[in-house]
Amino acid sequence: MFNETDYRPTRAIIKTEAIRKNAERIMSYLPQTTQLIAVVKSDGYGHGAVRSALTALEAGATMLAVATLDEAATIRKYIQNIDILVLGPSPSSFAAVAAELDITLTVTSTNWVQRVNEQPLFDKKCKIHVKIDSGMGRIGVRTEQELAQLLMYIQQSDHLVIDGAFTHFSRADEQDAEPTKKQFQHFTKLIKLFPVKPRLVHASNSAAALMFPEYSLDAIRYGISLYGISPSDIVTENIPFPLHRAMTIETELSYVKKMPSGQPISYGGRYTTSEEEWIGTLPIGYADGLKRGLTGQDVLIGGKRAPIVGTICMDQCMITLPHAFPEGEKVVVIGKQGDEEIRIEEWANRLDTIPYEIVVTFSPRIPRIYK
Ligand SMILES: *Cc1c(COP(=O)(O)O)cnc(C)c1O
Repeated sequence: MFNETDYRPTRAIIKTEAIRKNAERIMSYLPQTTQLIAVVKSDGYGHGAVRSALTALEAGATMLAVATLDEAATIRKYIQNIDILVLGPSPSSFAAVAAELDITLTVTSTNWVQRVNEQPLFDKKCKIHVKIDSGMGRIGVRTEQELAQLLMYIQQSDHLVIDGAFTHFSRADEQDAEPTKKQFQHFTKLIKLFPVKPRLVHASNSAAALMFPEYSLDAIRYGISLYGISPSDIVTENIPFPLHRAMTIETELSYVKKMPSGQPISYGGRYTTSEEEWIGTLPIGYADGLKRGLTGQDVLIGGKRAPIVGTICMDQCMITLPHAFPEGEKVVVIGKQGDEEIRIEEWANRLDTIPYEIVVTFSPRIPRIYK
């Protein structure tokens, strides 16, 4: 019997073992009292939210975090009895659903709390984490006055119960430690306004957890590095322990031909064979996340690099081969083969972006295979 996912040679291999090791490693690095919140938004940074979450929980994570309520609701179908925090703002009309599904919401404004308080009582209170903007400039209360007012409204609420408070660093992945230190100081100043310390006070993302373990508090929100990817080159240079890459993308040669010199390849004829060339076709294209800007990027075949030539199509692309290979020959698009490795960072540099953007744009059309 074939699984649906066996119909395509292009696949993402996800090593859950790597995720487990990354989770265990950061926990042993940080103070024993610091809990691990596994960030599994955007389908676990493209690695599969539920499988990544289950692996992180097995390794000792005590909470999950996502970006939106619908991401949380999807995970809730598979995983119960574990807190799931929605990091972004949710419309106040969804508070009842969140309470029902035992999903923890992020609260950022007095207006929001007022609108929730006007609703009919929930069966059980909705757990919330209060968001403090200590310098990111995105969401959250910024001043002592704003926070004091927000806390007053929450205290009067029969709908909401405070479970945590957090902030988010904007520059923890940079060389200069000063902006992060300033944010941390502002955050700790505001936290003192809580009449009772919330159960979970947290600030650090992956970069901060790795670079500033002293800011770890009750929990860290560990995202990109759970999957074995460093947040930035600066973090890579200073990283206290190796990360384990969880994702490999592989495919195989779907077609091979010998082309004479001077033949155009792909849309627009933007590449022309300069001599007699072996041209291979791969069943992966920009609809899979192999962006058109990656023309010229190498893949690995026979343990060696071979460049993508010509315009990348929606579902296919062509490479130039050093010599003939049989159809079906394995090709690594992201990952290791022989002594060579193609890292997400190489794509990110070529596309002038960051590894985060690459991993979340591998399309769901690429089956995720768990090893
Ligand atoms: C995405 C996100 C994180 C995780 O960040 P990483 O850099 O991937 O570790 C943590 N906190 C918030 C608020 C986020 O949005």
